[in-house]
Amino acid sequence: MQRNLFNYLKKKIGKDKYLDLEKFLNVILYDKKYGFYNTIDKTNGELIGNKGHFITGPEISQLFGELIGVWVLELCKNNKFKNINLIELGPGKGTLMSDVLRVLSRQNKSLKITIHLLEFSDKLKSFQTETLKKFNFSVLWYKDIFKLKYKLNNNPTIIISNEFFDCLPINQFKFYKSKNIFTKVIIKLNENKFSFDEKLLKDQEVPIICKNLTNNPDNLKDETIIEYSGLISSYVDEICKIILNNNGANLIIDYGKENPFGSTIQSVYKNQKSNFFDHIGQSDYSSLVDFKNIKNIVEGNNLLFYSLKTQKDFLLDMGINSRIENLSLNSTILERRELMSGYERLISKRQMGEIFKVNCFAKKNVVVPIFKV
Ligand code: SAH
Repeated sequence: MQRNLFNYLKKKIGKDKYLDLEKFLNVILYDKKYGFYNTIDKTNGELIGNKGHFITGPEISQLFGELIGVWVLELCKNNKFKNINLIELGPGKGTLMSDVLRVLSRQNKSLKITIHLLEFSDKLKSFQTETLKKFNFSVLWYKDIFKLKYKLNNNPTIIISNEFFDCLPINQFKFYKSKNIFTKVIIKLNENKFSFDEKLLKDQEVPIICKNLTNNPDNLKDETIIEYSGLISSYVDEICKIILNNNGANLIIDYGKENPFGSTIQSVYKNQKSNFFDHIGQSDYSSLVDFKNIKNIVEGNNLLFYSLKTQKDFLLDMGINSRIENLSLNSTILERRELMSGYERLISKRQMGEIFKVNCFAKKNVVVPIFKV
């Protein structure tokens, strides 16, 4: 671990004698000087890909982004959208957006599109610039999601994201049913070593969300872990406001589940799971997205939350089988083998097919392809 990052964390911990998980992750992932996403900009390290820390759907196969492109195309057709904002949150190397735009620009030449990308890493921004320069669309970048709303001109807005929400910082709370008390998971520093600990919360410190979730404790274990991200909640709320004001829909593809229970946070270093404290500042951290929380926020904003699909079902419903047959017709044996191996990774249960979920929410009047309430 970098000396500078260590000293910085030590200073931050010094004040209160601990940091909670969300604050700790915020520093080690996002700090402008020392955070993982920002320091990777200054090394030759790669974030995404076989040589990087993790690999994602769009980097595995072009089928992934193309089928999302078809979904966007049908959404525009169903709703007679002529001039849209297409927002991507956390576009990585720009591959997903590029595959989506290839489909849109071929199939609907009259559709006007303004692209908006939320990306705070300058290195990834330069990848995205390079990948997208072949298209003739105007592209705007943002580092802050709360600035997006000012540039949308009341045009229908479609927001897509893949593996974005799973990397946002979370907190963990523990509910001790038998004693009816809550603790918060914290990180302490003892003899220059970080370790997890718990802090007992006073009644007024317990987040309302934790109280609501444990109102009916019959089915809960004695030591129930609750994961909650204030940041994810505020981002989703902002997206809802954007859709309410401009019309449109949101599509999330992410590692996910439909409850907040259990510890799901993991550290990934060079494509391998690693111990939480082993590569601070050099590894990525992610957790399963709680779609139940997202559903509550969406419905609180009077938008329609559609039932989750697994990534496998989404891709099958979007016609991945006939698309792969078409592509295979004009490919060499080697290319065909590559297509098939990408297909397997995307939809097989053992790999990404089930743990990845696809969620759509939209304004109530919008006609959404393939999803059901
Ligand atoms: N969607 C891409 C990359 C996923 S990695 C793919 O599928 O390949 C997560 C991406 O989100 C990276 O581009 C990272 O720099 C960006 N990111 C993460 N948190 C962010 C935040 N709070 N604001 C802006 N960008 C963020």
